[in-house]
Amino acid sequence: MPPPDPSRPGVLHLDLDAFFAAVEQRDKPSLRGKPVVVGGVGGRGVVATASYEARVFGIGSAMPTGQARRLCPNAAYLAGRFEAYRRVSSQVMGLARELSPLVEPVSLDEAYVDLSGRGDGRVWDVAAVTEVAERFRADVKALTGLTVSVGAGGSKLVAKIASDLRKPDALVVVPPAEQAELLAPLPVQRIPGVGSVSAERLRRHGFTTIGELARAGESELVRLLGRAHGSGLWALSRGIDPRPVVSEREAKSVSAEETFGVDLTDRRDLEHRAARLAERVTSRLRAQGLAGRTVTIKVRRYDFQTANRSRTLQHATSTSREVARHARELLSGIDVSDGIRLLGVGVSGLTGYAQADLLSDADEPEVAELVEEEPEEEAPEPSAGWRPGQDVEHDDHGPGWVQGSGTGRVTVRFEGPHTPPGRIRTFADDDPALRPADPPVYDPRA
Ligand SMILES: [Mg+2]
Repeated sequence: MPPPDPSRPGVLHLDLDAFFAAVEQRDKPSLRGKPVVVGGVGGRGVVATASYEARVFGIGSAMPTGQARRLCPNAAYLAGRFEAYRRVSSQVMGLARELSPLVEPVSLDEAYVDLSGRGDGRVWDVAAVTEVAERFRADVKALTGLTVSVGAGGSKLVAKIASDLRKPDALVVVPPAEQAELLAPLPVQRIPGVGSVSAERLRRHGFTTIGELARAGESELVRLLGRAHGSGLWALSRGIDPRPVVSEREAKSVSAEETFGVDLTDRRDLEHRAARLAERVTSRLRAQGLAGRTVTIKVRRYDFQTANRSRTLQHATSTSREVARHARELLSGIDVSDGIRLLGVGVSGLTGYAQADLLSDADEPEVAELVEEEPEEEAPEPSAGWRPGQDVEHDDHGPGWVQGSGTGRVTVRFEGPHTPPGRIRTFADDDPALRPADPPVYDPRA
């Protein structure tokens, strides 16, 4: 895959606006224009997405849901409907692939597109990119009812920053001649790979903005950070990002591995490392909206003999705690006393999200605690009760969604994407006329 042409704004970053919350507002007319929070609704849950109306109250992604409830008690708190989100995501990714075969999905609601992948020889100047991107945005709105923000530039870095500039429902095309000016005032953390540790180190050297890095010059950054980091960071500070847009065929497995500088013999150390690898693998799974049923470890011994061990679970998972536990158990069957030089953890047998996973994973204990012994996981309960936001159907009242439940009652609002705001009714929570249902179908012609 070639790096993008930095002289043309032909790389797009697509980002659906407040995605999970927007799908909820589309399918639940009574929530339109209201604060909606999708996330873990239990005691230790965190916010996955807040609608723009909820963000006004200071609610944002990764905030504990309990804190969000204190900031805005009247918001609708919903558990999330990943089947509905996946359906919309695949429609949008399909439209993106009509733009160019070079589409790299980053998560359910984000993707990069390199227009040069069309191979039709078209020159991607600002006018041409604007025309194609506006048509794409209109197509997404028509097909799904949702708004998507698009940034375009000469690299992934610039495209991503541009898509965020005027959210929601905006297109920002950055001419290559203006990208340095765009980046200059932004904090260094906006550069991919610059986390809080790097940012703190840069701050101690007097760098807080991207423009300050660009002005420092390559040799100064190399002196401070070493050749590899210094040169790369200097290029990125001027918007030069060689990462290609990589179109992935449907991933068959996701794995991560680590080669050690010295052969490791300490089992506890290896278990820690397996837990960290599990965390890397599962965060990539979750970013792609995936979960998997088979956990594999790969172990290369001091003499380069490699062993793979795997086990298949009853259900797909994307939680790091669960993958780490299975990896650890697989590792327990392997003799490490002569030294291990490489350890890998993988997940295969991929499907869409296991519903409960994404939003509960952030509650997990730190990696360091993962090596503690855990009780054997129970099989998932067939009837876990009604979840807020869940799609249901009632024999007499038709389709609706669960507004709340407790003390033996369940409250349902009967409405759908093409109805006016609906009425609420309350039932016994074991009412035989009420059952879970598939997400409602959104009809673009309605
Ligand atoms: Mg988004």
